[in-house]
Amino acid sequence: MKLYNPADASLLATLAEDCAATVRDKAAAARRGQLRWAKVPLVRRKAALARFGALVAKDKAQLALTLTRETGKPLTQSLNELNALPGRLAFFLDHADEALRTERVRGGDTAEEVSHEPLGVVANISAWNYPWFVGSNVFIPALLMGNAVLYKPSEHAALTGLAITLLLWKAGVPRDAFIPVMGAGMAGAALLEADIDAVFFTGSVATGKKVAEAASRRLIKVQLELGGKDPAYVAGDADPAKAGPALAEGAFYNNGQSCCAVERIYVHARVYDRFLEHFLAAVKGYALGEPMDPHTFLGPLAREEQIPILEAQVKDAIRKGARLLFGGGRLARPGFWFAPTVFDRCSHSMTLMREESFGPVIGIMKVSSDAQAVGLMNDSDYGLTAAVFSKSRTRAERILSQVDAGSVYWNCCDRVSPFLPWSGRRNSGLGLTLSKAGIKAFLRPKAWHLRRP
Ligand code: NAD
Repeated sequence: MKLYNPADASLLATLAEDCAATVRDKAAAARRGQLRWAKVPLVRRKAALARFGALVAKDKAQLALTLTRETGKPLTQSLNELNALPGRLAFFLDHADEALRTERVRGGDTAEEVSHEPLGVVANISAWNYPWFVGSNVFIPALLMGNAVLYKPSEHAALTGLAITLLLWKAGVPRDAFIPVMGAGMAGAALLEADIDAVFFTGSVATGKKVAEAASRRLIKVQLELGGKDPAYVAGDADPAKAGPALAEGAFYNNGQSCCAVERIYVHARVYDRFLEHFLAAVKGYALGEPMDPHTFLGPLAREEQIPILEAQVKDAIRKGARLLFGGGRLARPGFWFAPTVFDRCSHSMTLMREESFGPVIGIMKVSSDAQAVGLMNDSDYGLTAAVFSKSRTRAERILSQVDAGSVYWNCCDRVSPFLPWSGRRNSGLGLTLSKAGIKAFLRPKAWHLRRP
């Protein structure tokens, strides 16, 4: 398996890939390891994960460099990701005891209780865009709850995956409780055929459907965190000077390669021109350059395969009458670079407004009412997040309560909190991570009916 630096397309590393036989062996080791790990008292499991957090904090400068080298994510954004890890870890550690506590739900002659047991061996198939987030949202609570994890990092973030593995082992997680599976789609597919009890997947809709099919054949638990086409609406009473830069950042942070990136914007006619002015000023102000440079906000795309997808969306939008306001295509330099691209006068006949772009391309549309905005926001196969910018909370709540999305934002966007459930609707996914429910997701309930003799 070859890894390339997206900034200049140079070869970074060559790694050994797993095959069906090695995946099977790893699953067998995880099966044995899980039985031992589940017997380790929770206080010791928590201590190991807390040590992992301390090791990550100590090494974060080096870990950020690794992530930037393999994904092209600007160094400051790699550091932001690492800096947010302790907050997530603390949430999981703080709520682990509560999740495992037996609930005494009913007294009397026949008492009723619910206890919670680990799922067993959990496959964690991960994406490259935020490997420290989307991986840790799964493997930290999974390990805390007593599961073994077969962790398949993305082939585009494999060095980060190996770094995570070494730090978990160093922190005291046994080598057979957390096992990396290396490789691309074939390794992932082999993992789905191995002896696992559940699969937690983060990635594209197309792969997610394959994962769900494989899991359904085995009747194992499946959870999917998939793509998005997340809308934002700037209402007529919003402050364009605030909404413009906030939505530009929501659209272009990590080069638009966030599952919850803002991907389409609807703006009320009353504030349209001023919004465009502020939005474009923000985009034009972004420093595009070498991802290792601490001043860079926009680096290369992580994957070259995304460039023709973006080019097709741009071409389709122009053909159907959109107005190109900025950018528009691949940059002529080695590596996988695409100019930040802004269109307005868009319509829902354009792929730009319907299919996930997962890159630095955004479409904007003028609307004349809140009701029209709600209709357009809901006119999508996806349902991950939606944002409304307005001075009025009542108005925003009225609009957002009509939008079919797992997370909604008032005057903010592109935001994830460990305290809140992260879930997608329709093509954006099945199940959830984060929040207390996202810890319980790694447990099976056992119902106890206890009759006195
Ligand atoms: P991808 O679907 O290409 O790959 C995801 C993972 O699946 C990788 O580890 C890959 O090796 C593996 N895989 C590929 N084929 C497989 C198969 N047949 N069987 C099993 N595993 C297989 O996605 P990606 O490019 O890594 O990630 C980008 C996508 O992830 C975007 O659509 C993005 O929106 C989504 N995403 C969603 C969330 C969320 O929380 N909803 C978070 C991050 C990313």
